Amino acid sequence: MTEHVQDPWLLTPGPLTTSMETKQAMLHDWGSRDASFIEMNARVRDTLVKIVDGEGSHVCVPIQGSGSFAVEATLGTLIPRNGKALILINGAYGTRMAKILDYAGRAYVINETPEDTPVDLKALDASLDSDASISHVLVVHCETTSGILNPIADVAEIAARHGRSLIIDSMSAFGAVPVSAKEIVFDAILASSNKCLEGIPGMGFAIIRQAVLEGCEGNAHALTLDLYDQWKSMEANKQWRFTPPTHVIAAFDSAISQYLAAGGVAGRNKRYSNNCRILLDGMRALGFETLLPDELQAPIIVTFKMPADPAFVFEDFYDQLKDAGYVIYPGKLTVAPSFRIGCIGNLDENHMNGALKVIKETLDKMGVVNGVPVAA
Ligand SMILES: *Cc1c(COP(=O)(O)O)cnc(C)c1O
Repeated sequence: MTEHVQDPWLLTPGPLTTSMETKQAMLHDWGSRDASFIEMNARVRDTLVKIVDGEGSHVCVPIQGSGSFAVEATLGTLIPRNGKALILINGAYGTRMAKILDYAGRAYVINETPEDTPVDLKALDASLDSDASISHVLVVHCETTSGILNPIADVAEIAARHGRSLIIDSMSAFGAVPVSAKEIVFDAILASSNKCLEGIPGMGFAIIRQAVLEGCEGNAHALTLDLYDQWKSMEANKQWRFTPPTHVIAAFDSAISQYLAAGGVAGRNKRYSNNCRILLDGMRALGFETLLPDELQAPIIVTFKMPADPAFVFEDFYDQLKDAGYVIYPGKLTVAPSFRIGCIGNLDENHMNGALKVIKETLDKMGVVNGVPVAA
């Protein structure tokens, strides 16, 4: 074995820094029919349902691939060919759902708000009032583009009042922002192995209302993305339809058991909120400004406006931080230059303080006076 060298800490939206225990869980081979593998798979599925209080009402359907595969599979399976979606968009992941529906040939309309503004509840209510053909409402929980937290409980209340089906992309919030199926009415909530649950990349999953999924036979536009078929066959023989991502599931099983031992959603929310608070305070002390006011900020990833100081060159800043052991992330905003720093992954206050120290040193080296952005 090669000597262990510390990888850079990933202050990104994923893939993320994982624990040594999670990495070590992958040091085996499993046949897809191994009893131990089948047991792990069942445990992962059951626990994911429990994280959102979905026992008895919802089932977990996993799928090979990154998070977008789970989004595409869920939309194609749940929205019938004659259905029509209303997509609430305030960032790139909402826009991606529209693109997915273009490919799938499903009708949709959009309600769009700017990237620093939560989805518009009044517009949602009005759209559902005026268009009875809308069958599904799609919303992103934490829009990772900006880090904004959308008001999914209010969205769910409005969708339920109008009798429409709600699908939540909670990719970057699942497990860290509390959601209970007993309090929030949704037909599906989606996430992946490599975000707040701190597994490695390779599988997504949807927690779907069983009574709804039972009626979805024949909806899907692609065999590999048919979650009805994936569910049916997994229920029948406990196995995945096609080659399972065995090592991803083993790592995920370990990551989830560490998650539960660390206090589940409350524990994770607390650690990430603390990371976020340290980051916000430290960056503001250096003059940086955030895109979002604190009340809209999810404790997941923070968008900072690009500093005005001409000595600040993002590419150099990025490279120097990387060389010092911290990876940050470019911005994804369409409106203004920005960059992002994540609070998630197997990181705590020591890592956040370490990153801030390196950021300060890097600014000094670059001759940047402060992080104050161009006045709006
Ligand atoms: C990460 C993420 C996805 C999925 O992205 P992949 O790159 O396919 O894993 C979808 N929606 C949101 C909100 C995300 O943060």
